[in-house]
Amino acid sequence: MASSQKSLKSALNNFNKDKVEIKKDDMTAATIVMEELKKDIFRYLKGLGVPMRPFELMGSVYEGLKVIFANEFDLLMPLDLSDCEWDLENFNEVATKAGYWRLKLGRNKHAAEVPVSKNEWCKSLSKYLDNGYLSAVKIRRAFQSFLQKWSDQYKKSAAPKYEINVRQGGPAVTLNVVYGSDRRELCIDFVPAIDLRPIGMPTNALVVAKPPPKVLRGADVESLWLQSYCREEKERMNKIDQADNGCRKKCVKILKTIRLHNSQMGVLSSYVFKSILLKVCKDRKAEHWGSDSLADRFIDLLKELHSCLKTKNLPSQFNSKVNILASLEDPAIRNIETYLAKVIHKESYVNDLLTCSGTCKYCKGPSAKK
Ligand SMILES: [Zn+2]
Repeated sequence: MASSQKSLKSALNNFNKDKVEIKKDDMTAATIVMEELKKDIFRYLKGLGVPMRPFELMGSVYEGLKVIFANEFDLLMPLDLSDCEWDLENFNEVATKAGYWRLKLGRNKHAAEVPVSKNEWCKSLSKYLDNGYLSAVKIRRAFQSFLQKWSDQYKKSAAPKYEINVRQGGPAVTLNVVYGSDRRELCIDFVPAIDLRPIGMPTNALVVAKPPPKVLRGADVESLWLQSYCREEKERMNKIDQADNGCRKKCVKILKTIRLHNSQMGVLSSYVFKSILLKVCKDRKAEHWGSDSLADRFIDLLKELHSCLKTKNLPSQFNSKVNILASLEDPAIRNIETYLAKVIHKESYVNDLLTCSGTCKYCKGPSAKK
């Protein structure tokens, strides 16, 4: 091993130890709180007549990719709309490349039914439609108001254990929770989703009510649903390092953490790093991922990232029609591409990527020590 690789390897390991890893006890405490609230909210939504399938835990925590704090959970809330007929429609080319679709209601068996009160789930679905298309925005708002009502009720209960707030107006349905004597914080993102399989779609995927990126802002975007492969991703990520006790997830976690400390890298979503890893694993199957190769593989991922940015093309490993970089605007892509080209050329990984200027919100302020 060249000495520069050796020192990069130890810098990566130190960075991982100091900045990336979550304390096990913190994770356990946060999970207990989340599980308790999850059960309570599920029961509440069922009571309102919302056609819920069981919540599913998704995202970084359940893929072993969460970094720094045990404070964010993603809960998938799949709705069962299988008693209506739906057509999955393209919107335009930009939307297709970004993975967004529209769901058009065909026949609605419940057209005549009306909800008991305006605060309950409306079985006729007309309340959630825009020109015959299911509106992701309206569904999200409905859940926001259901959660608000649940939280109002929770606050009035005899002895509320936690301080709860529903974040208003954001793109997601988010619950902020303060718990424990040291007032720790956690947030749970509730993601409304629709399972396409039970409604007879020629795909086993799922669409989620995630707001479209800026490139898709404008008319009619309220009815756009993002096709999600979170179930497949969770399965892949959970197995990915098993056979060889590899450092694949470690690399992604380090990149995700760099992204939080480094404003240049902050332009990229965590999802980009995970997708780069999946691409490299597929393109170069024979590569050695043991802990000895940490520095080499880390550089490989950066180089692959750079070349994808250069061509603005990172195909989804689950659907080759989707380009994960399609949502990024060109100037942003150019900036980060130029930056990475410099880092790779100078081999200044430690100085530029693993060293924080100390001005980021993770390195200063009270939350940094939590
Ligand atoms: Zn920092």
